[in-house]
Amino acid sequence: MSKLTHTSSEPEQHQPLIVQGTTISPGFAHGVLHLQPGSLGPIDAPEHNSEHNVEEEFHRLDQATAKISDDLMLLAGRVEKEIDAHLAEVFGVHRQILEDSALREELRKEIVENLVTAGSAVKSVFLRWETRFLLMESAMAREKGDDLRDVSLRLRNALAGITVHPLEAIPEDCILVTPRLLPSDTVFLGRRKTAAVLLEFGTTGSHAALFARQMGIPCISGIAHIMSRLPEAAGALVNAQKAVVTVNPNRAMQAVFSKQEKDYSRMLRSAKANATKRAITQDGITIHVKANVGCAQDSLTAQDNGADGIGLYRLEQFYIGRSNPPCSEELVTEIRHTLTPFKGKPVCLRLLDVGSDKPLPFIGFMAETNPALGRRGVRLMREYPELLNTQLQAVIALREEFEIELLVPMVTLPQDLRFIREALTKQFAGLNFAAPKLGAMIETPAAALSARLLSPYVDFMSFGTNDLTQYTFAADRENAAVEGYFKDSSEVIFRLITMVHSDVPSMPLSVCGELAGRKAHTAKLLQCGVRSLSVAAPLVALLKEAIRGVKLDNKPMG
Ligand code: PEP
Ligand code: MG
Repeated sequence: MSKLTHTSSEPEQHQPLIVQGTTISPGFAHGVLHLQPGSLGPIDAPEHNSEHNVEEEFHRLDQATAKISDDLMLLAGRVEKEIDAHLAEVFGVHRQILEDSALREELRKEIVENLVTAGSAVKSVFLRWETRFLLMESAMAREKGDDLRDVSLRLRNALAGITVHPLEAIPEDCILVTPRLLPSDTVFLGRRKTAAVLLEFGTTGSHAALFARQMGIPCISGIAHIMSRLPEAAGALVNAQKAVVTVNPNRAMQAVFSKQEKDYSRMLRSAKANATKRAITQDGITIHVKANVGCAQDSLTAQDNGADGIGLYRLEQFYIGRSNPPCSEELVTEIRHTLTPFKGKPVCLRLLDVGSDKPLPFIGFMAETNPALGRRGVRLMREYPELLNTQLQAVIALREEFEIELLVPMVTLPQDLRFIREALTKQFAGLNFAAPKLGAMIETPAAALSARLLSPYVDFMSFGTNDLTQYTFAADRENAAVEGYFKDSSEVIFRLITMVHSDVPSMPLSVCGELAGRKAHTAKLLQCGVRSLSVAAPLVALLKEAIRGVKLDNKPMG
């Protein structure tokens, strides 16, 4: 996936390296590389124990578990105060792992049957569990593997009497190089300490990505064999816009980088200065540029970048870390907290999109051979209508505070929308106000091909190009092995968008998949009839600026 280039004109030891990865969090940084090996090494030889010490090891394990549980509670409090309440939930999940009865049982069995110390038992049992999760295809399951690794490390450290986190000691302002970041690692990576982070593993949806973006730390992942390729203490330039790292740069490279960095800062400054102004094309067409958000911090960034509203509120981020479904009051508190900066502007709340790679712990593990083609999004709400009703009750409670619109995920059949429309009508019957506008996510080829049949149920449509691409090209969006098939800017996708526009010409169309944020395709999307784009919050101001330079070649549509 990543490539390495050596230039031949310089001495071997200082030879520049150019390494390519994938952007997790944008920005520029320069500094010195600091290599931090992965928290858990390969499994060592087990430390044996004698039969007489079994009870003692049980006791040590219980004590360490209790200590970690207390630590996690403190950590959650710290994250909630310093970063975000929603992110603090991660540590609640870690406490649940610690308390999992099957895991505890397996740990005891390991101590008794293999006569090993509590530390050895933790090492091998957690590794078994972690491997099970890491082998699963879905990114969400792999993140669960990271959570297990994190808890295992804590527990082993507690058993060994180690209390300092290794990242507490990293050099100030370094570029951290590490195979992967565990959720609790990220707490130690405030802006003050880390210029940038380079990883071997970690998707854009991983915990590490979430923290890095929120803290504004440039981060690149997907750098294969990172620990053996990047030299400790070498100087490096990180261009997380292009996902390129230049190690041991020569003068010419430094000059190019410094120009790119300056250009980027200038562009950002000027875009931010115009952020709250409307984005109007050269032909005089106003395009609404909104933000995709999942938590309160995203909304603040969106506000700072002049978003015209929220085009996609991924509500599932609130559900996923929980062990039980929220009641409507809890949901109201969360939604209010997230949306407060957008009072008076349209906010589009996507109904729960779980299933597939986003399993809900309290619905239980749904053993589907092919979960991306199984029960997710609206299909799951049809199966568990109480999940939908809680969300609709929260919307009713917030009706006077926010201009809420609703978006239905994973639509394939008109019946999917009829079900939601009927539930909406029922919930709003007898109330003195109109139901919110309803939109369909167009993220399956079936939805795109049947726009006319879907249109009577909805007020607008929004293209989820991430899933639309995955389903059109039959290429799992999380699977690097089929990356070459995942062509979200292909002519095929634009053709589907154009087709929807010509089938339902008066339907307001937006795009909220990642394609919406790529400036190279903006003009083409607008040409296809799209009039609203919803993108990651930090991209809003830059995209507005790009739209101001667009001139549509054909007669503008709509
Ligand atoms: C999409 O599929 O393009 C989309 C915006 O939804 P998500 O990425 O949350 O599946
Ligand atoms: Mg989607």
